[in-house]
Amino acid sequence: MSRALVIQTSFLGDMVLTTGLLRELAQRGPVDVVATPTSAEILAHHPAVRHVYRFDKRGTHAGIGGFRAVARLARAHDPTDVAYLAQGSLRSAALAMAAGFQQRVGFDSSAGRFLYTRQVPHRRELHHAERLWRLAASDDQASPPASTVRPSLHPGPEEEDAVQRLLDVNALAGETMVAVAPGSIWGTKRWPYYSALARRLSLLGRVVVIGSDKDRELAAEIVHETFGSAIDATGRLSLLGSAALLRRALVLVTNDSAPLHLASAVDTPTVALFGPTVPAFGFGPLATARRIAEVPMLECRPCDAHGPQRCPLTHWRCMRDLNVADVLEAVDAVQREVQER
Ligand code: SF4
Repeated sequence: MSRALVIQTSFLGDMVLTTGLLRELAQRGPVDVVATPTSAEILAHHPAVRHVYRFDKRGTHAGIGGFRAVARLARAHDPTDVAYLAQGSLRSAALAMAAGFQQRVGFDSSAGRFLYTRQVPHRRELHHAERLWRLAASDDQASPPASTVRPSLHPGPEEEDAVQRLLDVNALAGETMVAVAPGSIWGTKRWPYYSALARRLSLLGRVVVIGSDKDRELAAEIVHETFGSAIDATGRLSLLGSAALLRRALVLVTNDSAPLHLASAVDTPTVALFGPTVPAFGFGPLATARRIAEVPMLECRPCDAHGPQRCPLTHWRCMRDLNVADVLEAVDAVQREVQER
């Protein structure tokens, strides 16, 4: 039976969106993955994945020795084994070659495409989860149902226990939770009004702030503004633990960042705030109930593939003009959709 090796060493959100491809390939044979240490963490317990090879490309595997070590571990055993380049760098393509994969599949827009044996059209109009899924499909295949490409994660007992402890410590068990994720590594993606929003969301349930320990300051501000009623869960759970917590939340309000994709993977109703980027890039929420909040008709949007650290025009209207009332309206709409189902 041929084996698939999926190489995905991009951002965490990209790995979450790759899980539809992993499920598709797992129906055909064993699936192994090359991932960054952070992304490797979220694939724990995933039923579609047999083995994850950690590729710390900026750390322990930065040099040629580390590259060769990963290639040796992930090596092909059969000419029918196929490498799927879910991340399009030349380094990833070279890794697949060095690992002996005679079949290498990736996007026709990728930097490493001249090393591929099959190039798949990178269709800009599709969601990235479907683009990735199409690496395993024929070029003329019709779009699959949403459930086929919706990402999936599988928190295990350890993560569920960690969430339960957090709930117990904060006397949250049995309470309705409303999650907010105010962080982003890109400065212009961080909507500035989460504290004001949290005060209003407190009427729906206990506000829980999700994120990494880098988001502690933002979380502290929200806790302060809600007179201590919001719970700061930033840096207190693993990524899969955050997904487990999100699964219990009524709704998540998030920037265009990793928690958006975690919520899609556990199908938590989501309101996603887009500023310098747009959902048309292919990274919008995929939860069944979802809404986008954004400032339409702003000529400078989008201004960057990721979102610059500072607004190049200095006014930052893409986020400053997105007000709390607009976001609350989106939360109401998503709630209504859930209730009407
Ligand atoms: S240029 Fe426009 S889209 Fe970009 S950060 Fe500034 S306001 Fe936002």
